[in-house]
Amino acid sequence: MKNGDAVVPRLNVVIKAAEAAGVPIFYTRDWHPRNHISFREQGGIWPPHCVQDTKGAEFHPALTVPATATVISKGNNPRKEAYSGFQGTDLSKRLKTLAVDEVFIGGLTTDYCVKESSLDALHEGFAVDVMTDCVRAVNVKPGDGMRALQAAKKAGAKLTTSKAAMKRLAGAQHSGHLPAASA
Ligand code: ZN
Repeated sequence: MKNGDAVVPRLNVVIKAAEAAGVPIFYTRDWHPRNHISFREQGGIWPPHCVQDTKGAEFHPALTVPATATVISKGNNPRKEAYSGFQGTDLSKRLKTLAVDEVFIGGLTTDYCVKESSLDALHEGFAVDVMTDCVRAVNVKPGDGMRALQAAKKAGAKLTTSKAAMKRLAGAQHSGHLPAASA
């Protein structure tokens, strides 16, 4: 997608602050088998992407991934699409075990993975903050990204910025905040 890597420097700043504050950091990533249902040759709408154990499934080389962070792989069932980091994973359980009550979300893409992860996080009972300067949309239809953010907001998510998130992180040690990076 165009300009997707523009979110990386901003995410890195938030990740560094989260690490300094000692709050848990989770990364979600697509981790598709070669015959994943979302791929065009299987009747899906996407070109092949994020195939397990290939370069395409790696995080952006400039993205900071602390050794203490947790990586959640999703979309590994060939028959199921999984835009949300909560879908078919133990992410919710892990967050609850850590007594996390609020998640800060950034990454790609606004209109799919960020949107669905935000809605699922709300559904699981977490407070959700979407860092709007840390997301980018595919915009298959013009305006999809904007509509996705509005849908998240309508469902109860707060639309915020990396700058505001940094402020919260600076004053909120161990309060269970979490930037989740969607890959
Ligand atoms: Zn995918």
